Amino acid sequence: MPELPEVEVIKEGLKRKLRSRVIRRVKISFNGSLKNLSPQAFRRKVTGRRIEDISRRGKFLIFSLDDGSFLVIHLKMTGQLIYHQGKEKMERHTRIVFHLDERFQLRFIDMRKFGAIYLVRDLGEIPAFLNLGPEPLERKFSAHCLGRILKGRSRKIKSLLIDQNLIAGLGNIYAMEALYRARISPERGAEGLSSLEVKKLHSAIRDILRKAILAKGTSTDTYRNSEGRRGRFQYKLAVYQREGMPCCRCRGRISRVKISGRNTYFCPECQK
Ligand SMILES: [Zn+2]
Repeated sequence: MPELPEVEVIKEGLKRKLRSRVIRRVKISFNGSLKNLSPQAFRRKVTGRRIEDISRRGKFLIFSLDDGSFLVIHLKMTGQLIYHQGKEKMERHTRIVFHLDERFQLRFIDMRKFGAIYLVRDLGEIPAFLNLGPEPLERKFSAHCLGRILKGRSRKIKSLLIDQNLIAGLGNIYAMEALYRARISPERGAEGLSSLEVKKLHSAIRDILRKAILAKGTSTDTYRNSEGRRGRFQYKLAVYQREGMPCCRCRGRISRVKISGRNTYFCPECQK
């Protein structure tokens, strides 16, 4: 599932290509991707609109359109947004094609069909958007800020880190990799962390997100950037999907546990 770094890389790629382009026509092959409008209403409202800017909030991509409305896309499990300049063969599982001026296309491809597309006047119309937590790469997200988020919460630290209402954009892979780097067990209760551990976790989260963006994201599954290319950060992952393999830091073996139903990998020897 694309997390903050992958969505950021897609956003940067699309921003370069799509700014000022006009949506001429929309082909909708799967109505279920549209979450707040009928296909007819969506097509009518989005046709003729110019894309003025593209931004990201958490794992949401936001296209600001010239009439003041927003096209908002969440890729969920397997969504991809691929930009084409010519007549390339249509990818399998293409759900929506935005035909732009000069024959350019933006294709929304989504194997598992969980992806979500909204067209709204106000971002507050999207329920999941209203309660999003702070952006972990923003300056104001300090170690102190993370400490306040964790304070008094007995839930396991791992399940707390991936809660979008507490921190926006962090998902399963980067949460467990940040915990490994900070030497903290994913099973610890959040409130039990010392202030030094909170500091280490804070810098591990920011460091791993920045490095993943530089490596153009993690392609362990279907993630591709807006040009259809894979990222490279999967080669840097220390624990994800490495169950039974030796830890890169100590002699321990990587274990797997389920936390809130999600596979979580860690080293029981050096993560305490
Ligand atoms: Zn270890």
